Amino acid sequence: MVIAVDGPAASGKGTIAKALARHYDLPHMDTGLLYRAVALSLWRFGGNAGNPFEAVRAVEEIGNIDPEDEELRSETVGELASRVSAYPAVRKALLERQRAFAAQDGGAVLDGRDIGTVIAPQAGAKIFVTASPEIRAERRHKEITARGVNAHYDEVLADIRARDKRDASRDAAPLVRAEDADLLDTSNLSIDAAVQRAIELVEARLQASGLK
Ligand code: C5P
Repeated sequence: MVIAVDGPAASGKGTIAKALARHYDLPHMDTGLLYRAVALSLWRFGGNAGNPFEAVRAVEEIGNIDPEDEELRSETVGELASRVSAYPAVRKALLERQRAFAAQDGGAVLDGRDIGTVIAPQAGAKIFVTASPEIRAERRHKEITARGVNAHYDEVLADIRARDKRDASRDAAPLVRAEDADLLDTSNLSIDAAVQRAIELVEARLQASGLK
């Protein structure tokens, strides 16, 4: 079974995808890390993110991704990732890796922006995770300050809004809910409650498709 989890920054999609992978004992891919790795490689080598050719070349440089790398998780890299991910050639260069992960025997859980629409439109369960921009900014602000980094809530909120706008308005695989995706609004849910709800949604899909 393939489970597609999409949604905007800080919606809770990563936490939910990881919990679903644990629950169903499936491998998990955080596809945002691929775009972040491209951005980081560009940044480290002084590449120009405004140049799609340099961004595509950076795809070849990403190698093994260390999910624990703090720089990869930084706001600067997230912002840059959102810019390079708008280039169709970058998306194309990363497509096969994601499709192959989704196609492995036994299934997988992938989270990102275009899993249910582009990477795995055949997914047996699709969840579109969302939350209000203010709540997402609050979460992100807490995360950043917990790392000991100074940040202003208003700036974090402005960044979230800017990233939403860019991700949703780009021509290449914009952030949209797939028609057959279930909506999960985590604004007023604890992590446990959101995960529980996600499992219920997947179970309902499994039953509907006769797999359970
Ligand atoms: O999810 P995360 O914040 O790590 O993603 C960083 C950026 O990568 C996003 O803002 C988005 O622009 C891009 N992305 C994408 N498609 C995906 C995953 C991430 O365009 N499947």
